[in-house]
Amino acid sequence: MDSERPIWRRPTTLDEAIAARVELGDAALVVAGGTWVTLLIQQGLARPAVILSLDRIPGFDGIAVSPEGELSLGALCRLTDVARNPAIRADWSALADVYGIVANERIRNQGTVGGNVCEADYASDPPAALLALDARALVRGPSGERAIPMRDFFRGHYETAIAPDELLTAIVVPPMSIGARAHYLKFTARSSEDRPCAGIFAVVEPAAEDRVLKRVRIAIGAVSATPILFEAVNIELNDGRLADLAGEGATSIDPIADLRGSAAYRRALVRALVPRAIRAALADGAA
Ligand SMILES: Cc1cc2nc3c(=O)[nH]c(=O)nc-3n(C[C@H](O)[C@H](O)[C@H](O)COP(=O)(O)OP(=O)(O)OC[C@H]3O[C@@H](n4cnc5c(N)ncnc54)[C@H](O)[C@@H]3O)c2cc1C
Repeated sequence: MDSERPIWRRPTTLDEAIAARVELGDAALVVAGGTWVTLLIQQGLARPAVILSLDRIPGFDGIAVSPEGELSLGALCRLTDVARNPAIRADWSALADVYGIVANERIRNQGTVGGNVCEADYASDPPAALLALDARALVRGPSGERAIPMRDFFRGHYETAIAPDELLTAIVVPPMSIGARAHYLKFTARSSEDRPCAGIFAVVEPAAEDRVLKRVRIAIGAVSATPILFEAVNIELNDGRLADLAGEGATSIDPIADLRGSAAYRRALVRALVPRAIRAALADGAA
């Protein structure tokens, strides 16, 4: 019935959008690219009175590198924009690779960087990468801007640290350490376009001497309610040590069972994929 159709609000400034958040509270559902929200509404899982669309707010779809070397991804930039951006391909190539294998081209052309992290679906790719790269989310509300480190951003299934009157404006990724290398391994259990059954993002920092890693930072995504980060220092690069590290990762997660795989399967995946992700990062070269 027409009377049940949501009203669209399309603010043209961020302040106006935040004011609408304050005014409408839970009655309004924020929409960026709409790839996820549309499904929620179509399936009757959300019946918002108001749709608060961000699509007319200029200035939040840019990608920039600051003089300090930090990468800023505007909340409204499309997943495709990240995957194809020359600066990201040059200095954060593993991150560009992650955005380039989310879903399929149609979703990547429509879905936004902000929408991907704000939906907080555990079976997503970018969250693990952003966690391993020590990124932070910039959010703005009626009392100003604050930064939320990615390790504090995801609270659980479909739950983030963003307050009901706030909006995500950007994600900031620090520069990679000199000599650091990274790689993302996505494992899909059904089709290549599927959401991940497990995703491992590895950042490694080789030491001066051969066969030693100064530091390893691994984020494990899509296996538990939120992505999990673990780190190790002074790792000898041999099969036994990498298997031990993978074992630590596998025991540190509380795996989910779903259509893509059982909890035991996911633990086994983590054991198998962590060493592969580390070796692939080393083979990939810088960034
Ligand atoms: C068929 C399909 C396959 C997919 N496969 C994958 C996959 O393989 N890997 C993967 O990582 N993801 C996958 N996804 C998820 C996809 O990446 C997201 O749907 C998309 O990135 C969401 O972006 P959006 O702009 O469309 O968000 P929307 O649908 O507009 O919004 C998503 C959520 O974020 C909130 N939101 C959006 N922007 C903001 C903001 N700036 N501030 C506060 N809240 C905000 C909305 O209120 C909503 O709750 C898939 C989705 C579909 C439909």
